Amino acid sequence: MNYHMPLYRPPSEAKSAIIQVTLGCSHNKCSFCSMYKEKTFTVKSKEEIVNHIDSIAQHQKNASRVFLADGNVLALATNKLLFILQQVRSKFPSLERISCYAGPKDLINKTCEELLQLKAAGLDMLYLGVESGNDAVLAQVEKGVNSSEMVKAGQKAKEAGFLLSTMVISGLGGQNRFYQHAIDSANIISQIDPHYFSVLTLMVEEGTTLQKQVKEGKFKLLTPSQVLEEMVLIITNLNLNKTIFRANHASNYFFLAGVLDEDKDKLLNQLNQIKKSNEFRSENWRGL
Ligand code: SF4
Repeated sequence: MNYHMPLYRPPSEAKSAIIQVTLGCSHNKCSFCSMYKEKTFTVKSKEEIVNHIDSIAQHQKNASRVFLADGNVLALATNKLLFILQQVRSKFPSLERISCYAGPKDLINKTCEELLQLKAAGLDMLYLGVESGNDAVLAQVEKGVNSSEMVKAGQKAKEAGFLLSTMVISGLGGQNRFYQHAIDSANIISQIDPHYFSVLTLMVEEGTTLQKQVKEGKFKLLTPSQVLEEMVLIITNLNLNKTIFRANHASNYFFLAGVLDEDKDKLLNQLNQIKKSNEFRSENWRGL
């Protein structure tokens, strides 16, 4: 279907039709990320996008969800995004939701009016990689924003009416910033109060800056037990209204699901049971 590989989408978009309107990520600097290392950020022309939408619609015309790929489609000029949304809505008659990844800078760079326009044109949901709430960790991994900017980005998305899904990476502070990463991440997510919150677990990808840092002994990974302790700290310190929480990504050492804060005690009990049994998903199965 004429995709430029590799192609990524959030796990919750597994059944969505994927429309690839950009290639790569405009930031492409995060030390842990290998997703788009082989791609130079490129925005497809209107003609290419229309042809691509037509070709995907032929195969998945009954799709109720569309995910716009690649990395951070929200970086596109608002007029072009409005054109794309109109095209998508006209070609998928059963459409219920359009979503994409959003970088924090993309949200900050758009005015509130632009975000409202995009929401009104049918962009329903944004996925924001928060990664950490700790400024030192965000700087170390070269996320490109600090924690205040991340909160501003998340709150702006919510204020414009988007469904907001946020991700934090457990273990991203390494042994040195284990505690601060957990506490500050819980704090930042509480301030954003997203509709969805997922915790992934750090994996060392081939060819990344992180892999080099690990090899040189500059970054020390957490053990599975420490990842569990970090999760206890995160969940304990969250203060949310009705956020759907998931830690069910292929990278996780254990799986959790609930609604926060109402399931806080249940989740902490589950973590306690896992701690007692000392049963974690094998390193060999992570990522699969
Ligand atoms: S983590 Fe996201 S923002 Fe960072 S380089 Fe990867 S795709 Fe880009």
